[in-house]
Amino acid sequence: MAEPVSAQDRLDKIVVLIAANMVAEVCSVYVLRVDGTLELYATEGLNRTAVHLTVMRIDEGLVGTVAREAEPISLSNAQAHPAFSYRPETGEEIYHSFLGVPILRAGNTLGVLVVQNRAHRSYTEEEIEALQTTAMVLAEIIASGELTAMALPGAEPAARRPLHLSGLALSEGIGLGHVVLHEPRIEVTKVIADDLPAELARLDHAVDTLRASIDIMLEDEGVARVGEHRDILETYRMFAHDRGWIGRMREAVLTGLTAEGAVERVQSDTRARMLRMTDPYLRERMHDLDDLANRLLRQLTGRAGGPDTLRLPENAIIVARNMSPAALLDYDRTRIRGLVLEEGAATSHLTIVARALGIAAVGHVENIVGLVDSGDAIIVDGVSGEVQVRPPADVETAYVEKVRFRAKRLEQYAALRDLPTRTRDGVEIELHLNAGLLVDLPHIDETGATGIGLFRTELQFMIASAFPRTNEQLKLYRSVLDAAGDRPVVFRTLDIGGDKVLPYMRAIEEENPALGWRAIRLGLDRPGLLRSQIRALLKAAAGRELRLIFPMVSAVEEFDRARHIVERELTHLRRHGHALPERALIGVMLEVPALLFQLDQLFERIDFASVGSNDLVQFLYAADRGNPRVADRFDPLGPASLRALKLIADKAMAHGKPVTLCGELASKPLEALALVAIGYRKLSLSPASYGPVKAMLLELDLGALAAAITPLLESGTELSTLRPQLKAFAEMAGLPL
Ligand code: PEP
Ligand code: MG
Repeated sequence: MAEPVSAQDRLDKIVVLIAANMVAEVCSVYVLRVDGTLELYATEGLNRTAVHLTVMRIDEGLVGTVAREAEPISLSNAQAHPAFSYRPETGEEIYHSFLGVPILRAGNTLGVLVVQNRAHRSYTEEEIEALQTTAMVLAEIIASGELTAMALPGAEPAARRPLHLSGLALSEGIGLGHVVLHEPRIEVTKVIADDLPAELARLDHAVDTLRASIDIMLEDEGVARVGEHRDILETYRMFAHDRGWIGRMREAVLTGLTAEGAVERVQSDTRARMLRMTDPYLRERMHDLDDLANRLLRQLTGRAGGPDTLRLPENAIIVARNMSPAALLDYDRTRIRGLVLEEGAATSHLTIVARALGIAAVGHVENIVGLVDSGDAIIVDGVSGEVQVRPPADVETAYVEKVRFRAKRLEQYAALRDLPTRTRDGVEIELHLNAGLLVDLPHIDETGATGIGLFRTELQFMIASAFPRTNEQLKLYRSVLDAAGDRPVVFRTLDIGGDKVLPYMRAIEEENPALGWRAIRLGLDRPGLLRSQIRALLKAAAGRELRLIFPMVSAVEEFDRARHIVERELTHLRRHGHALPERALIGVMLEVPALLFQLDQLFERIDFASVGSNDLVQFLYAADRGNPRVADRFDPLGPASLRALKLIADKAMAHGKPVTLCGELASKPLEALALVAIGYRKLSLSPASYGPVKAMLLELDLGALAAAITPLLESGTELSTLRPQLKAFAEMAGLPL
């Protein structure tokens, strides 16, 4: 029986073989280590004693340059090169020519493969290609983790090193588990070709099939809707016909690779270039090219790709460049513990769905798809935005402790469930929930919320692949009312446009979409859509109470027109003998500053109001809520916004009309403190914030708070924010924040 061969033995044999094949006197493998240095792991030709002793920094020598630049270097007189660094222990001074290629995997450098010759000679293009091919095989050995055993303690190869990455916290929670790649890397098992003409034919056939499939998609009206999707397909078509790209893959086959080996080689080079690119547009195009290469690989290897969405491992952490909310909903959500994305945004639909499902999520994690393998251990911290890949035992223990602590806190919140939300000085505060999907509904019972203060109806539209029919809408609204029982639910009519784009609706280019044709403006101009939604809502609420609000109202007259549509629908249903809601209460979202100067007229007409502070604050300060450069520039706890919010609360009180605040402000304990200080008694918040805000309110002496804060607002204050004063109050009063 054959002796088991150690990784070191294999590597030693490989360097001898490469040296012989390349007719080189030297062949060496350098592996990138956890500490960012390059270690000589095997050599034929240099002093063997230097193996595992020669270590160089990545900014040092020719080998360092190859690793850093992720590009081959070929020199006939290496010692004359400014980057040449002499290592006496290796005995390399007698070798003049040098060819080094990066060992790349998924665009990441894992090491460097070098051949050297005594004579001054120029390596041919074919030789460079051939060495790159061999480097691909080495990449798999390094990534497999087999070399770890031969590393000195604390100096494992970088390919398997623990990584601590930072991104943007999207959805609260901490998830520990194992990587499930949303679009897994396609494993190429056969790299070296037996029959070159046959491999060329396979590649050509795969490219033809790819082109044909793109053409079919472009012709399919249903798929290639106008707008962004079509643009992507057009770009794909352009790349699929790109002679440079196809030429590079054919050349790679001619160096001895299989068709899939060639696609992967060129893909790896593209990724390495992509990682060095700073221009976001070009990076995006590279991603498109990467996606096309994956399609070719899937075809050539006969793998359908995509994980089995139903049979996930326990504790799955989904890792993706980006994905649609519908794709996330396709997974067995009882097994998903986290989500890590290269893209993603705080207000994106996917984020909203992840939050609703209680899945910890972090976005903006650069190249995460390239850095992990399926099954890798991974931790997602959706509170701090940190991601730990292959965490060391001590880090994992710390997180297990964190999870335990969070669970305990959640238990404490759960214990408050049946207590009325009443401040220490006896003021009742109503806490409602923000919702928008079926998956939100169990939170009503879990939290013991007073009701649903904002049901964002557009979410159903945003996650669907086509306009939901009136019947589908009706079904959802009925389920919401059933789940709420006798607790009130405020449905908001469609708030689409702006950043809320429906993939199947014709996209309209607007210079300032947030200020554009959106929400009620669109509803009034295209009343068919609004009418059918209102009809579905009225039918769903038959025999019960319906509460309805219109988003982005800017003028009293818009409210009048919208209410008129409701009245007409009521008349229509009555005439056709349909059961009607017991009563319909109609209100507005206060989120456009112009309404601040029409409050008296407005409150005379409406039954209730809901303040959308996300939009109101962005419009007050003219600072885009979705633009990280300006979103946090002005503090919503500044006197300008607090005075505006207080004006609304005062007017509502004077008119005897209920007002709720349903923007994100209500979901943060310190901000919620400010809101109750200026007179708000009804807040609508995200389910995860319910416990923390309630716990804070239960400890609050509202009289003392108002006495401390109101004078600051009334006295023409110079302060740019009241945050420090609110914090000081909370600390002094021992409020849990
Ligand atoms: C708001 O603007 O505060 C709001 C609740 O609406 P949305 O976040 O859906 O725009
Ligand atoms: Mg809004």
